[in-house]
Amino acid sequence: MDRHSDRTRLIAAATQRGKGRRPVNPPLERASTLLSDRVADMRDDSLGPVYGIEGTASQNALRAAVADLEGAAHCWLAPSGLAAVTLPILALTRPGDEVVTTDAVYGPVRRFLTRHLAARGVTTRFHAPEATVDEIMATATERTRLILIESPASLTFEMTDVPALAVAARARGLLTVMDNTWAAGLAFKPLAHGVHVSVQALTKYAGGHSDLLLGSICAKDPGVATSVAATIEDLGICVSPDDAWLALRGLRTLTLRYAEQARSALKVATWLADRPEVARVLHPALPSDPGNAIWGRDYSGAASILGVVMKGGDPKAAEGFLEALTLFGLGYSWGGFESLATFETPQLAFRRTPPALEGPLLRLHIGLEDPADLIADLEQGLRAWRALQDSNLRPSA
Ligand SMILES: *Cc1c(COP(=O)(O)O)cnc(C)c1O
Repeated sequence: MDRHSDRTRLIAAATQRGKGRRPVNPPLERASTLLSDRVADMRDDSLGPVYGIEGTASQNALRAAVADLEGAAHCWLAPSGLAAVTLPILALTRPGDEVVTTDAVYGPVRRFLTRHLAARGVTTRFHAPEATVDEIMATATERTRLILIESPASLTFEMTDVPALAVAARARGLLTVMDNTWAAGLAFKPLAHGVHVSVQALTKYAGGHSDLLLGSICAKDPGVATSVAATIEDLGICVSPDDAWLALRGLRTLTLRYAEQARSALKVATWLADRPEVARVLHPALPSDPGNAIWGRDYSGAASILGVVMKGGDPKAAEGFLEALTLFGLGYSWGGFESLATFETPQLAFRRTPPALEGPLLRLHIGLEDPADLIADLEQGLRAWRALQDSNLRPSA
């Protein structure tokens, strides 16, 4: 059977025959209660859900589309990307277990691991963000139950050799959960490489318009699926049909937005890397990036997000740079249509071992604007940065 590309499949799912006359997009069904004609029908699962928590048309269509994209047998929705990461960890660990993850893990996930999970007897061991597979496996002990993979990692974008790690973890009977937000379910397929659970913040590229929060949890293995499903059921996790409807709409154009934003991001990254004010640009699609070989081998695309390490300079100059930008919004998150900028140095302090960088760390998210306009905006931002640097060099009066 020939398998169409993701680009085609994400759209063809909407127009499949045999579903009767209907709108192209699923109806937005808002329901807590679903009515039956007869008492016996209320117990007949083949007639669909009896209660809104099970999900109606838009949640089910989104689950099917994300499962297809990730090559999963099961997909659940979570109210945020953060919940999509924490739920499978809650489902798959028991008191006394240990989790192994990168020191560059997404900040709110670190908080969950060190606060909520630790208080319930599950501890976490952190490995260096640039650790090899052997070094990651050496971090695991006989108590380790699960490896949480984030590749590229948050803020500094270190790459992990995920196919090799999945094999090594399985050989030791360890479970793997991967945060696949950066690849948007498109550029990398964790389940195809033997990772047990692939999660995404659909908030980012699937949503694509900075107007919803949502997460997805995908799995193939039936035992893992049973545990995750039970936890979601026990905790009463569900998402709004409206948010699911918006994310489904976002998926239809996901491949085009992702590819176009990656092209622009690489242009901006290449330009910035050549600037005398910039020490390094952290982005695995750049040939100079330490993660470029793994990225080139395993990934078919890149997210439009860059770490920018300034050459020297103090935080005030970095803030002046960001505030001089007119096309970049000052705001968190990424994957939307609009460009964003943040100052990230303070976040690095939460790490066990903060990286030794040449200067302040900024993060840019590249949206769908013309990259030439973004570069011109960055050019005048760098002028502001230079002016602040010069005034700092003058002795104060
Ligand atoms: C944003 C993000 C999340 C969390 O998603 P939310 O929907 O904002 O909770 C999780 N992982 C990564 C890597 C992210 O960038």
